[in-house]
Amino acid sequence: MAQPLLKMLSMKRKCPVCHSHSDLHVRNGFFYRESGRVRVQRYRCTQCAKEFSDATFQLRYRQRLRRINGLVERELISGSSLRRTALILKINVKTVVRRLRFLAHKARKEQVRRMQLLSDIQEVQFDDMETFEHSKMKPLAITIAVWKNKRWILGCEVSQMPAKGLLAKRARKKYGPRLDDRKKGRERLFKKIQPALGESVVFETDEHPHYGKHLKERFPKSLHVQYKGRRGCVVGQGELKAGGFDPLFSLNHTCAMLRYSISRLVRRTWVTTKRPDRLQDHIDIYVNFHNRVLVS
Ligand SMILES: [Zn+2]
Repeated sequence: MAQPLLKMLSMKRKCPVCHSHSDLHVRNGFFYRESGRVRVQRYRCTQCAKEFSDATFQLRYRQRLRRINGLVERELISGSSLRRTALILKINVKTVVRRLRFLAHKARKEQVRRMQLLSDIQEVQFDDMETFEHSKMKPLAITIAVWKNKRWILGCEVSQMPAKGLLAKRARKKYGPRLDDRKKGRERLFKKIQPALGESVVFETDEHPHYGKHLKERFPKSLHVQYKGRRGCVVGQGELKAGGFDPLFSLNHTCAMLRYSISRLVRRTWVTTKRPDRLQDHIDIYVNFHNRVLVS
């Protein structure tokens, strides 16, 4: 661990304007941060006279209430809604939304770093989960890829899809035609996970008709194994399957954990997603927590 830390410290402190090295900066007083009362060193660049501080380079730059970040994360991945999080932590719901976006940004960075350490993964399971934005007539697909042996979540992408079945006609009448972006979502996912996969990786999925073709295009040397879909059991949020051995257990168990942990994905919940990008943020925070704490 020593090396990344050293690298981080030396990467710090480049002038934000002319990018000069830290040798060319002189100390320029200090201030006490309001949140936490920590002494923060200020600098002046001798090349361009820009003044900055140690805080300038932090992800949390200009944040008040830094101490709530961890608490907000814990609430959001433990089935609390945004409003309930605000109530419990005695902060405004707008602050929760701001921290949701911040935590997601941080989580995505950590996930990218985690993925860079992985290589030659041999068995991956993936599938689409379904949820909706605002109304069941506007469904969303969450494409999720899981490393079978470790149950790590390799990636999760939200994309919109048109309503199916009985609702399809009413949805078109009320909201007009809705684009099917699921292929693009899968493509984004594949692009992110590809460097971590072995050449002859085995993909396990259900019998969705479009998966096979897309996998052959993207991973010509991979093997694709399909399993028949089964009826969900009640305790597993409909994701764990009733009775006997489930070949897609790693995937289904992970999907059940997502549904249990993220308030807006719980089945029959009152909580809904209003913006797909915020759903993606919420999922990214969970994915980071899942890989960092639950399955590591
Ligand atoms: Zn400078």
